Amino acid sequence: MLSNIRIILVQTFHPGNIGATARAMKTMGLENLVLVNPRSFPDDEATRLAAGATDVLENVRVVDSLNDAVSDCVQVVGASARLRSMPLPHFDEPDTMAESVVENATAAPVALVFGRERSGLTNEEIRACTHQVSIPANPEYGILNLSQAVQILAYEVHRCFRKRPDSGFVYQAPSESTPPSREQFGYFQQHLSQVMHKSGFITQPHARTEEQLQALFSRAELSRRELSLLRGFLSAVEAHLPYEPTPKE
Ligand code: SAH
Repeated sequence: MLSNIRIILVQTFHPGNIGATARAMKTMGLENLVLVNPRSFPDDEATRLAAGATDVLENVRVVDSLNDAVSDCVQVVGASARLRSMPLPHFDEPDTMAESVVENATAAPVALVFGRERSGLTNEEIRACTHQVSIPANPEYGILNLSQAVQILAYEVHRCFRKRPDSGFVYQAPSESTPPSREQFGYFQQHLSQVMHKSGFITQPHARTEEQLQALFSRAELSRRELSLLRGFLSAVEAHLPYEPTPKE
């Protein structure tokens, strides 16, 4: 799915921005970078700023026009700092853009397009897009560095991707962190209470201390495994106390 998401940089002036973009992409699981008429590429500065993402640079596709870069895409989102500068459907928030892009990318290629450092995208390039997105920022100083704009949008895409059940990122509790049943937790509470009384830690029948400690263990959201460790600990302490049987399970 992420391999269907293409990042396109149009006529980038500073090769360092290309390298920093590659790095921003790779950290978010994106690898498909297309450059439309870059001023200088390949370039040592790009390689330097890519750090561990030189593989993204090695697989870059360089093309002559934005139309060539997007011809197979079903959705093309132009990133622009100027709010509603394009006559296109507009995503006011990057997260709503990401939802739409990730959904479309399940079926076909989609692209996020970024403009020149100085002048952004031309009208003709805008016509090659289907949507616009802007990153809400300081109204008095809202233009981000090119690669930082890529980072933010790539992060949103990745965040949205992670939430999908098929992403492999959705957290699945390993069986040993399964919570105990209420019955198991009840046995633990009885055991704890018994040891607190038998050890002489609690001397009065309805002490608040006992309630407070029970509440502490409730808040801890113990797993079955942790509960059984605590039961083991209580039994070990109990072995040094005058004999009384522990509650049964
Ligand atoms: N003077 C240009 C700024 C270009 S910044 C202009 O007015 O368009 C380089 C690119 O970074 C932009 O073309 C855009 O793709 C992206 N970018 C920078 N800030 C952004 C923002 N706040 N929201 C969306 N994209 C942004």
